Amino acid sequence: MYAEEVAEMAGRIRDEDIALVRERTSIAEVISDTVTLKSAGGGNLKGLCPFHDEKSPSFNVSPARNVWYCFGCGAGGDAIKFLMDAEHLSFVESVERLAARAGIQLRYVEDDRSAPRPRPQQGQRQRLVAAHAAAVEFYRAQLTTAGARRAREFLAQRGFDRAAAERYGCGFAPDAWDLLTKHLRQQGFTHDELVTAGLSRPSRSGSLIDRFRRRLMWPIREITGDVIGFGARKLFDDDDGPKYLNTPETPIYKKSHVLYGIDQAKREIAKQGKVVVVEGYTDVMACHLADVPTAVATCGTAFGADHISVLRRVLFDSDERAGEIIFTFDGDAAGQKAALRAFEDDQRFVGRTFIAVSPDNMDPCELRLAKGDLAVRDLVARREPLVDFALRHMINRFDLDTVDGRVEAMRRAAPLVAKIKDREKRPEYVRKLAGDLGMEIEPVQRAVLAAANGQPAGTATAPARPAPAAPTVDSPQSMVEREALKLALQEPVLAGPMFDAVEASAYRHPVHVAVRAAIATAGGVATAAGGAVWIEQVRDACDDLAGQALVGELAVEPLRIDGEPDPRYVSITMARLQWGSVTGRIKDLKSKIQRINPVSNKDEYFALFGELLSLEQHARALREQAAGGL
Ligand SMILES: [Zn+2]
Repeated sequence: MYAEEVAEMAGRIRDEDIALVRERTSIAEVISDTVTLKSAGGGNLKGLCPFHDEKSPSFNVSPARNVWYCFGCGAGGDAIKFLMDAEHLSFVESVERLAARAGIQLRYVEDDRSAPRPRPQQGQRQRLVAAHAAAVEFYRAQLTTAGARRAREFLAQRGFDRAAAERYGCGFAPDAWDLLTKHLRQQGFTHDELVTAGLSRPSRSGSLIDRFRRRLMWPIREITGDVIGFGARKLFDDDDGPKYLNTPETPIYKKSHVLYGIDQAKREIAKQGKVVVVEGYTDVMACHLADVPTAVATCGTAFGADHISVLRRVLFDSDERAGEIIFTFDGDAAGQKAALRAFEDDQRFVGRTFIAVSPDNMDPCELRLAKGDLAVRDLVARREPLVDFALRHMINRFDLDTVDGRVEAMRRAAPLVAKIKDREKRPEYVRKLAGDLGMEIEPVQRAVLAAANGQPAGTATAPARPAPAAPTVDSPQSMVEREALKLALQEPVLAGPMFDAVEASAYRHPVHVAVRAAIATAGGVATAAGGAVWIEQVRDACDDLAGQALVGELAVEPLRIDGEPDPRYVSITMARLQWGSVTGRIKDLKSKIQRINPVSNKDEYFALFGELLSLEQHARALREQAAGGL
């Protein structure tokens, strides 16, 4: 396919120019426009593939050999091929784009049918982008005219000076029917091109008129910096259109993908590993100017799955490295919106999602005006994990001072916790929910387990996949939990008091938690005689079906030690188990400390800091024990 197209198209741009473009192009730079790349060793780079959905990077770039290749989906090629695939450009368009970037003047093979043209016919995309670039200049020039006074006032009232307006390319669509249309027609853009670009539309009389009139204009750029559309703000009371009007869907403007500000924010998003999602153009400007350079906004649509894929590649959000996404909300509807996102969205993203709610219902733009740049940075610093936020909102609707209120709040919140697909995280939220409700952990745990079991395998929002009857050994923590339970079931005499002494909260996986609880209910390991009777006792004490199945499995699964287990092995296993739980708590504590404002919450800050130091000391001791020293 590619080779054919090259052969067919190569006649149009001279071969030596194409070769020069290849030679002068840094493939890493071109790909870095859309995909964040990290070193993969040996001079190679890797990132998350833009052509298939993946969790760990298999998309490789070799700057030395000027090629890229994805081991996940098999896509690959040179820089030209990358632009063709990633941006749906034709071969000629890709070469033209790279030539412009490298400052190369392309020469074209003359068409013998007609006189040499100054510019050959470009691809549609290139033409639509060129029309937008011309429109930006047109609107920008209009902003200084007398008719644009209201637009300049609007910007000034929101704290944006001339330099800010320039930086974002703000402009004004004049009070005229077809000024832009005529201007672009004079520049050689056709009737069809202007309609397709969404810049003009046919009037009832059939003539072509401007789509935007009497409005403040923001050019919307895609990640590479090309302008592909506009956002237009109403300025006059007698304008009966909506407050914001955006470019309609066009071949180059897809609102589900567009993130306003991404062109300016992408480097910082990649560097800081976080992105701040705000609601409007002025909020993006306010954040950037307040030194929150990672802010972007959706344009006339809710944040969705396509936006997530764009951001994940910029964030390099993979299994090895997690990016953080922070939503700002300014209204009372924040809780509802957050709850929807927390439990309906792409679950992989949920754990890294945070909510920042601005005080007094102000958006970042208003906040900056009223309280200054620092207040905007503080808003982002005081973010809260999405799930915490959503749970808090849910239970705060009930009167927690009464038993009925607490029980009802637990009943409503338990299904939400059960929906958290990252099972490792559930015990953490069970603990947190119990704390927020002021209840014991056990009833909350039971409510969550019941809700989880009541759900059909594979919920409506997720593609159906076989629900594991027993937990898979999918993390080091899960594996060590499993090993500890095996010791308790198979070697109760040996494991004895050492097993019982480790608190139940060290187990994180819900099914492991259930088996650990059953062991306690059966009287504890220290008193167990062992053998088949002991296994039966534990199985009977287990009120969780998956847990009962797991007991049978763990009773026969070989221990992960060559030869006979000894006290040293039990000690190491139990230390590793606790170490996992303690380091988990350290992580939580660190994130909590991060979210606290040390100036206004000094006491809490130092209290948590003290707790952190002692936990870290505990972790060091456990680490030594886990390494084999008793
Ligand atoms: Zn791929």
